[in-house]
Amino acid sequence: MTSPNVPHVRKLAKTRIVATVGPACEQTETLQQLILAGVDVFRLNFAHGNHEWLWQILNSIRSISQELSIPVGVLGDLSGPKIRLGQLPEEGIHCQDGDQFQFVRHADSVSNPRQLTCSYASLIDDVDPGDRILLADGTVAMLVTQKAEDGQSVNCIVSEGGLIRSRQGVNLPGVRLSTPSVTEKDEADLAWALQNELDFIGLSFVRSAADIDHLRSLINASSPTVNPLIVAKIEKTEAIDDLDAILESTDAVMVARGDLGVEAEISCVPILQKDIIRRCNERRIPVITATQMLDSMQTNDLPTRAEASDVANAVIDGTDAVMLSGETAIGDHPVVCVKMMEKISIEAEPLAARTETPEKLSHQSRRATPITEAVAIGAVTVAHELNADLIVVASESGRTALALSRQRSNVPILAVTHREDTARRMCLYWGVHSLESRLVRQSADALLQYVVHWGLENNTLRSGNRVVVVGRTNWLGEGQDLMMVYEVP
Ligand code: PEP
Repeated sequence: MTSPNVPHVRKLAKTRIVATVGPACEQTETLQQLILAGVDVFRLNFAHGNHEWLWQILNSIRSISQELSIPVGVLGDLSGPKIRLGQLPEEGIHCQDGDQFQFVRHADSVSNPRQLTCSYASLIDDVDPGDRILLADGTVAMLVTQKAEDGQSVNCIVSEGGLIRSRQGVNLPGVRLSTPSVTEKDEADLAWALQNELDFIGLSFVRSAADIDHLRSLINASSPTVNPLIVAKIEKTEAIDDLDAILESTDAVMVARGDLGVEAEISCVPILQKDIIRRCNERRIPVITATQMLDSMQTNDLPTRAEASDVANAVIDGTDAVMLSGETAIGDHPVVCVKMMEKISIEAEPLAARTETPEKLSHQSRRATPITEAVAIGAVTVAHELNADLIVVASESGRTALALSRQRSNVPILAVTHREDTARRMCLYWGVHSLESRLVRQSADALLQYVVHWGLENNTLRSGNRVVVVGRTNWLGEGQDLMMVYEVP
């Protein structure tokens, strides 16, 4: 048993787990079980649920996290220009190959069952004959055949039949949308997220770096008390085309395979995923792999072999985090899913740790100074050389912890910070266990004493163990970077 003022270690996997909240896990007890099972970051999806409901969940997460002294991050996921079908008959519509439909601009002009509307009135302006309109997660495809002269409708023919239902997503692959990436609804959701000090803001359907810059300017303009990290959701081919610039602008990335699998050919998703992860790793940008990772566990209590391999391969490829969507939001076994993800990650991580990142010795990242980078590389080298059991980093902004995380060392990293927001932000960093304590600002000795006490209480350290410490000589003035090695007496 640990003493009550020493937070315990609940998690063995270095890969971080993001879990989407929903009706299946809204109860305080389930949220607590999810945290204890290994969830590092909860995703609040603004596409589902109103602010009042999300606030209740956020409140529960924050109280549990405080009670357990386990920092937990919260990601607010803005819907972006997600297009949805309008109202259809309850039973949906069966579309047959060759059927003709018409998209009309406004719902009140619908006069027959072959007329459809969607949440994006400008669809009529943005598409041209020959463009594809995909419905029902890409299972139904229509081809635009003609635009009406009055500009109020477009005619389509079904090229891939199937069932469509109200409010299902509409994708327009390859079509340049004229809508801004941050919609009016997103602006209201963003204001709520900033007011409630969320740690990460995801933006859906990012098309270019300008979308990220725009979101950042909105965040900066409201001078939030907590500056959230921006997560660019890569789910459009346009974003892949502008990925280098997006990676320069964003703080983190999500491979949003759900919509990516509709916007791009589904056969390309695995290769795109590998490429995005590699490019994020090279630039030291945390990357989340998302959607359908353990999909069948929404109803089953075991994953398929293919799903287990999917999680393992993402970990081996270098993803920082793996995400659960429907599995935790609406599935039957949310806690079992998290435990399974943790288990698969632990098995796969030794292979991820051996993956070399080409930029390992480069100092070009804008995320850490050359000194921080060099100290991180040095600390990991020393830790390996001495078979150290723990790397401890005292971190103010989390930047040094991120630089250490990027080395993908198999030595656990304990990041201690006096800032609550930094502790929560580091929940997305691979291999970093974050801990909040004011002692970091006192002295390196005080920090060391606290950490050794923590390690002994948790059975993560014992006599003779070596600890590599990365910190500053002084936190109050112009401190210098320091690294030292300590042997537990
Ligand atoms: C996705 O499309 O994979 C995704 C994560 O986004 P959402 O769940 O918001 O559709």
